[in-house]
Amino acid sequence: MNIVFNRQLPTPQEIKNMYPVSEELAKKKKANDEAIQNIFKGESNKFLLVIGPCSADREDAVIDYIKRLRTIADEPLVKENIVIVPRIYTNKPRTTGEGYKGMLHQPDPSQAPDMLKGIIGIRRLHLTALSETGFSCADEMLYPENHSYLSDLLSYVAVGARSVEDQQHRLTASGIDIPVGMKNPTSGDLSVMLNAIKAAEHSHTFIYRGFEATTKGNPLAHAILRGYVNHHGESHENYHYENLSILANIYDTNHFINPAVIVDCNHSNSGKKYLEQIRIAKEVLHSMTENDTIKKLVKGLMIESYIEDGNQKVEEGVYGKSITDPCLGFEKSAELIREIARIKSNMK
Ligand code: PEP
Ligand code: MN
Repeated sequence: MNIVFNRQLPTPQEIKNMYPVSEELAKKKKANDEAIQNIFKGESNKFLLVIGPCSADREDAVIDYIKRLRTIADEPLVKENIVIVPRIYTNKPRTTGEGYKGMLHQPDPSQAPDMLKGIIGIRRLHLTALSETGFSCADEMLYPENHSYLSDLLSYVAVGARSVEDQQHRLTASGIDIPVGMKNPTSGDLSVMLNAIKAAEHSHTFIYRGFEATTKGNPLAHAILRGYVNHHGESHENYHYENLSILANIYDTNHFINPAVIVDCNHSNSGKKYLEQIRIAKEVLHSMTENDTIKKLVKGLMIESYIEDGNQKVEEGVYGKSITDPCLGFEKSAELIREIARIKSNMK
């Protein structure tokens, strides 16, 4: 092999001992977990919003953003109708491997990769979010082996479009006790996503972090529709009424434990035209009002949102502006959350 093993890194347990979750914070996370999981089990009528920057780039701006989200989440109409899970995405899949791979690799995006600082940095960020805002957040499970560094802090995990066909992701998802959203692959093939859900629902025995391990299966694995890219590299949507109907039919004719979908309003659904997320969110809610099966199936939305509108190159250094996919700025996001709460409250 041509790998240089630079140094041995601490185990997840060692990192957890260095930055522990207090009993009080563990209680908060448990309450968040219950609120979120009840949505997927069909026991709560609330609407889930997985919302936040495409990538977490710096602790101060991410925590600032999440504190702003907290004030919106606490508004009475929002609280009554919506459960917010902030996105703190600390590791980023890159189409060609080039570019910012997230805080795990580069806790400071302007500095060289440092994986030790990275695992500490991402744990501290998720821990700070929980202690300062009461939110336990969402992250992408890009590297299944790393899930255990954050397993006591996360309330939601997504398996990305580029990972969803991978066996290690699917088997690891089957051993996770929070909802795992399986994205449709970039090709748009729904069967890949549904096979991932099926695999995650079941128990498996496999090798995980040097152990022979057996999972219990995850009944909260579900679909995320993120749009797709055709053979010419052009983005196409899959959030329309017809797309949701097709998915509902597939769910209806195949047995799944908790049929559910989250619609990702950005990525190939918006063609990364981030402002379109507002219209897309409203269209999905409209489809729900038109059809009871769709209403039951759609559990929430994923929205890419940060303090500032749009995105920038790393060197530009604007505080609270995305350095990966373009995001909806905070003011517009707050308005959208309130609008979603209004529409949802009229839907009951
Ligand atoms: C993301 O959620 O930022 C992301 C990379 O999504 P996808 O896997 O759908 O491209
Ligand atoms: Mn993104």
